Amino acid sequence: MGRYIGPVCRLCRREGLKLFLKGTRCDSPKCAVDRREGVPGMHQFRRGKASEYAIRLREKQKVKRYYGIFERQFRKYFDMASRRPGNTGDALMSLIERRLDNVVTRLGFAVSRANARQMIGHGHILVNGRKVDIPSYLVRPGDVVGVKDREHSRNLAAANLAMDGAPRVPEWLDRTSTEPPEGRVSRLPAAQDIALPVTPQLIVELLSR
Ligand code: SF4
Repeated sequence: MGRYIGPVCRLCRREGLKLFLKGTRCDSPKCAVDRREGVPGMHQFRRGKASEYAIRLREKQKVKRYYGIFERQFRKYFDMASRRPGNTGDALMSLIERRLDNVVTRLGFAVSRANARQMIGHGHILVNGRKVDIPSYLVRPGDVVGVKDREHSRNLAAANLAMDGAPRVPEWLDRTSTEPPEGRVSRLPAAQDIALPVTPQLIVELLSR
């Protein structure tokens, strides 16, 4: 039987994919996916071929878990994406990618989306100089995302940046400064900016039924 890996890492093991839910641990040799340990219990190995429905459902679950969003909000994003011109799947992923908790993580000010949600909820994050405490806030091109001008807030972000070694920022964002930690949204995220390996079309097919 494999060593106990905890519920969060078990989600990654179930998807067979690193979902980066545990901050710095995800890039360390302790990552359960990299260690390739089995999920404890009798059902660690799946049998049989997944149904078409199961394949589509797993794509949706993957996105929800990666970004840490609930079903109701996910449906809301889907409805918004459906009303937009162009490819609904790409519009859906672009909307979700624009969430403030994701942007704070991508800029390296937080080590995970859960950590970013906590920082935002505690009032450490500013957008265009004003406190925004809503993790689902959708950033727009030109927005400046920074950290409150307070020693504690700056130290938190600086420690996270140092821990992650100032991670690479996606092209749609620009980390303008690390002291003080600040970044700018240069454009809307496009399909090629989504780091998660996912097929959004399968989610569209699932939710359009
Ligand atoms: Fe756990 Fe992170 Fe590895 Fe996923 S990627 S298994 S959350 S350590």
